Amino acid sequence: MTCKLCGSEKMQVLLIVTVYVVFSTLWIYVSDRLLFLVIAPQLRTNISIYKGEAFVLLSAGLLYLLIVRYARRLKEASSAGEKRFRLIADYMPGFVWTIRPDGTVDFSNKFFKEFTGLESYNDTSFVHPDDRALTEAIWRKAMQTGTPYEVEHRFRRHDGVYRWYLCRAVPERDAAGKIVRWYGTSTDIDDLKTTSEALRSRTAELESLLAHAPIGFAFFDQRHRYLRVNRALCLINGLREEEMLGKTIQEVLPVNARAADPILDQVFRSGLAVEAEIAGETPKEPGVERYWLTGFYPVFASAKEPIAVGAYVVEITERKRAEEAMSRLAAIVRAAEDAVFSEDLNGIVQTWNRGAEKLFGYSAEEMIGKPISLVIPPELTSELKEMTRKTKQGLQDHYETVRLTKGGKRIFVFLTMSPMRDAAGQIVGVAKIVRDISDKKRAEEDLKETVKALQRTNHELQQFAHVASHDLQEPLRNVTRYMELFFRNYQDRIDEKGRIYINFAMEGANRIHALVSDLLSYSELGVSAREFRPVSMHAVAEEAMDNLRHTMEESRAVVLLDELPEVMGNRRQLVQLLQNLLSNALKFGRSGISPRISISAERLTGNWRFGVHDNGIGIEPEYFDKIFVIFQRLHARSKHPGTGIGLAICRKIVELHGGRIWVESRLGEGSIFYFTIPARGGTDEGHGNTAGGRQ
Ligand code: ADP
Repeated sequence: MTCKLCGSEKMQVLLIVTVYVVFSTLWIYVSDRLLFLVIAPQLRTNISIYKGEAFVLLSAGLLYLLIVRYARRLKEASSAGEKRFRLIADYMPGFVWTIRPDGTVDFSNKFFKEFTGLESYNDTSFVHPDDRALTEAIWRKAMQTGTPYEVEHRFRRHDGVYRWYLCRAVPERDAAGKIVRWYGTSTDIDDLKTTSEALRSRTAELESLLAHAPIGFAFFDQRHRYLRVNRALCLINGLREEEMLGKTIQEVLPVNARAADPILDQVFRSGLAVEAEIAGETPKEPGVERYWLTGFYPVFASAKEPIAVGAYVVEITERKRAEEAMSRLAAIVRAAEDAVFSEDLNGIVQTWNRGAEKLFGYSAEEMIGKPISLVIPPELTSELKEMTRKTKQGLQDHYETVRLTKGGKRIFVFLTMSPMRDAAGQIVGVAKIVRDISDKKRAEEDLKETVKALQRTNHELQQFAHVASHDLQEPLRNVTRYMELFFRNYQDRIDEKGRIYINFAMEGANRIHALVSDLLSYSELGVSAREFRPVSMHAVAEEAMDNLRHTMEESRAVVLLDELPEVMGNRRQLVQLLQNLLSNALKFGRSGISPRISISAERLTGNWRFGVHDNGIGIEPEYFDKIFVIFQRLHARSKHPGTGIGLAICRKIVELHGGRIWVESRLGEGSIFYFTIPARGGTDEGHGNTAGGRQ
């Protein structure tokens, strides 16, 4: 036990003990002599007998005095301590209380009483119902283990309002270590608690915003290392969080570091935010240029210098590309040769490019804000209204029309009108592309005139050829007839030489006759043109073969026919076409080999391709085109008779039917004459390639 006495009291006790020791020593050694000096001799014996008892009594009295004094001092000291404790406790701005080990509260301070409005209490009714269970459990545990008690709970104020308190208690133990009392305090932490709650919820809100915002966020330290990144940034970079954290921009995005590093340095140095558009690439798509709008701002812990730099990153690649495409488009429009301009829905010009300036003669300043009717000929106002009505319905259309230039000139134009929409899809104006087609129009008109003139000439030529060949027949017949009469009547008087001359003359006349009749049929081709009906090419081939029966038999020719389709055409002309080709195949056979001819048909897209194959003498490639020209022949008449008109007629017939004709051949092996005829309606007509033979 510690001494509870003050310094002077200690001195007093020391004095009493010293006096007692001195007195007892004197008593033991000098009491007898002293007594003999002062006490009568008859009393001396009695005194020496009771000397021991007197000493004991005196000692007891002195000891009693000491104990009483000491106890009083102790009591005084203890109650002063208690008083001081209570005095202090009452002025504490929190709760102070003491509890005995049995749980009874033996002290609670003034503050507690004022707060709760209770004089005394022995239960936890003033603790918030939600906090009671926890508080009691912690209290029980502290009591059992003797460890300090600490809990946060709400106390009910006298007006029913609860406030948060931090309660703490420590045990007081006696010399044997037994708990004799618990000293407790409760401190109001309500404001702190609400502030930290608010802070926590604010932080949580910010965290959630950071995590879910479609904007990339990152924090960098002085060495440009990623301290934090959010999900959006991971998506933008195509990297996982752990692939960035702790690494520098240079390590993660070397291309982007070129732009970002100097900015970061600047923000750390100046402490001022910087916003910038930066271009770079990400590991997600290496080599593909991307753009971001970025903002770098300093993060201060104290007023001195930034401890970190926060950055936001917004992907603007698509916008940038769209802008680039737009500006390219705008540049194209600006520079276009065609007039490209736009009007609002009231026909007021909004844009006017260089092409428009050139075409109409009005400058952009003159036209923008003016009605488009300035370039519309007065008689076409209603046409323009109709066109605009269509465009307002959302339709794009093309027109050939006439416009007026600033100089009053009328120009033919090809005009495309398209609706212009705003972001919401509403039609807000009309875009127009206008091309000057005056030259084309003039060329078309000229062409029409030329065609008409050609048709006239052609017709006249046909007439001429027809008349000429027709009229030539008559005198030719006279020549032949009178030559025959002359020969018959004067043959006795004509010598051998004369007979030969007459033969030559007859031959010449016959040849002129053949030429004239071929020419006649050639000239007649155009007249009966385009009276087309469905015609079976099989029947056509058979008729042509019938007409050539005699020659075929003579040359012992074999003709094979594929299954031939039906086409739209002029039957008489088609018979003539096949007959000419067959007759040539027979005529230009190789000597000693009987002609073998086949007629095939193959369906191509939109056309039938027919082929007349022979095993004749063949044609040299250089003549492939020449042979189709009228009067062009490759052989002497004596060897292969003919007029050179047959293939020219073939070509004319094929062309009249909308097809073309050509030859493929190898000299000494044979030729194939191909020609095409448009298929009926362009559909497949179930033609098979089965070969049908006929001799
Ligand atoms: P013609 O038969 O009256 O001479 P064409 O116009 O029919 O006139 O033929 C022109 C020329 O083409 C012929 O003279 C001949 O030299 C050549 N020719 C035409 N068909 C064949 C063929 N099947 N084989 C070889 N040559 C041919």
